[in-house]
Amino acid sequence: MKNNDYQKKYDLLKKQIENIGFICTGSVLSVYNTCGNSNCRCHKDKNARHGPYNIWTRKIEAKTVTRVLSDEQAQLCRECIQNIRKLENIIEEMKKISVQYIENYNSEIITERNKGKL
Ligand SMILES: [Zn+2]
Repeated sequence: MKNNDYQKKYDLLKKQIENIGFICTGSVLSVYNTCGNSNCRCHKDKNARHGPYNIWTRKIEAKTVTRVLSDEQAQLCRECIQNIRKLENIIEEMKKISVQYIENYNSEIITERNKGKL
């Protein structure tokens, strides 16, 4: 491949990034809970537990942060988590192309030198 081809591939990936929406890390779980009232049915009957609640957990500087989300927020959050995975895949691809570009660039110079052009 020529330097130009790497640039074209790279530009396509950059365009893909433009289309990615909001991003976030972590995971969203649907959770049933028991409450603080020890007389409540939820303590005796598994099926009477409260919920489901949408629990979003993520790590911030090695600390786990937890939030309760509405159904709409949970849906949004799941999309954001998918988006960051897409973004990470694109970045990985950009890194690969950059490596190829650097390696190819180097070999072109060496080849030119061997031809006595430099
Ligand atoms: Zn309860």
